[in-house]
Amino acid sequence: MPSFRTPLACAGLAAAMMLASSPLALANGELNLYSSRHYDTDERLYSDFEEATGIKINRIEGNADELIARMQAEGANSPADVLLTVDTSRLERAKDAGVLQPIESDVLAARLPDYVRDDSNQWYGFSQRARIIFYDKNDVAEPPMSYEDLADPKYAGQICIRSSSNVYTQTITAALVEHLGEEEARDWATAVVGNFARDPQGGDTDQLRGIVSGECDIAMSNTYYFARAIRKPVKGVSDDLDMIGWVFPNQDSYGAHMNLSGGGVAAHAPNKDNAVLFLEYLASDQAQKYFSAGNDEYPAAPGVGISPSVAQLGFFKPDDVDASAIAANIPAAQKILNEAGWK
Ligand code: FE
Repeated sequence: MPSFRTPLACAGLAAAMMLASSPLALANGELNLYSSRHYDTDERLYSDFEEATGIKINRIEGNADELIARMQAEGANSPADVLLTVDTSRLERAKDAGVLQPIESDVLAARLPDYVRDDSNQWYGFSQRARIIFYDKNDVAEPPMSYEDLADPKYAGQICIRSSSNVYTQTITAALVEHLGEEEARDWATAVVGNFARDPQGGDTDQLRGIVSGECDIAMSNTYYFARAIRKPVKGVSDDLDMIGWVFPNQDSYGAHMNLSGGGVAAHAPNKDNAVLFLEYLASDQAQKYFSAGNDEYPAAPGVGISPSVAQLGFFKPDDVDASAIAANIPAAQKILNEAGWK
């Protein structure tokens, strides 16, 4: 039976038990957090850390690319200690821009599986989202069972998906480059463009709305947008959940594509110790539960329970390909999307 998680390794279990039984060490001072995570439920993450450690978090929120540019402009004088953002391609962009630094943390190494960590320890994934296929149950008798199936001409005029400027589109294309090679990934992208129901537009929730409105028969979205519509009213989706079916793709091969939300320690962090402590806190059982309960994500640390809305989507086999390998394919993915005419 496919499962969302591989079993805990022994080392990971020992570290998990240590973390669960000993509260974070008290440390004084502050932490300057640059964050582009746009979920208000993250408040709990921050206030619990402040209470446990006595470290005050000063938050600067903004668009990821603006935050990265700001850190670059601030250079060695940057007050940033930690950058949090979403998606592997953005984490990699931050690394390439030189705004992160490698760190040593036995806790992070033990808590987080290798495949959600940057090879050079500059960024860490703290939560995951599966990017899966949704479809209109009334109109689609045989939904695509894999990402590759989306290229099948029988789905001509049916697919709604986000634009090539969107990081989720770039990252899943980069994952296909990893699995299929550049040549096949290019053929795939070209064929998927041929199956578009409309020019790419809007966010993930808009793709789900497209199914409800009848404009799209098949759509791609991250799981948390759908789980959110289960948990609370989302306009244009929640009232019609019954008509939407979903497929965790590639369960017979490499598994469903996972994208990451994560972060790293800033290159010139004035409070580096606090920054490392904060990242270690984000990998703790308590913080990992918030990612699931608050924003319907999958915890990156093995063995942490998921919230009821997320559990409703069911168990599945995730693609555990190394995020660093995907990140390295992003330039190739962007080129492929351009060549395919993916707007
Ligand atoms: Fe999102």
